[in-house]
Amino acid sequence: MAEQIKPGIEMVKEARISKKRAGYIEIDDFKNSDLKQGYYCYNCVYYVNALGGKCLIVHSRGKDCFGKNSDVIATFGYCPLWAPNHAMVKKK
Ligand code: SF4
Repeated sequence: MAEQIKPGIEMVKEARISKKRAGYIEIDDFKNSDLKQGYYCYNCVYYVNALGGKCLIVHSRGKDCFGKNSDVIATFGYCPLWAPNHAMVKKK
């Protein structure tokens, strides 16, 4: 079964957009912030932490808008495609 869906998974991976095109940024000052409050990848519906910091729609490799190069989508990263993951956003 896994072999049957492998081409589909590869196609989805290739369809993702670059960090620069998405407007993705990582600001180190936000590393130790409360990630459940604010517009962070951590609480974005497209973020997949189980895979080591990936996004379903933005490539994890490459330079962000500030020219910073990393191989992950950081928990404290952000891009304008952010959409709330209501299970992760802190309730008041
Ligand atoms: S904010 Fe959401 S869509 Fe944008 S890079 Fe982070 S996880 Fe992906």
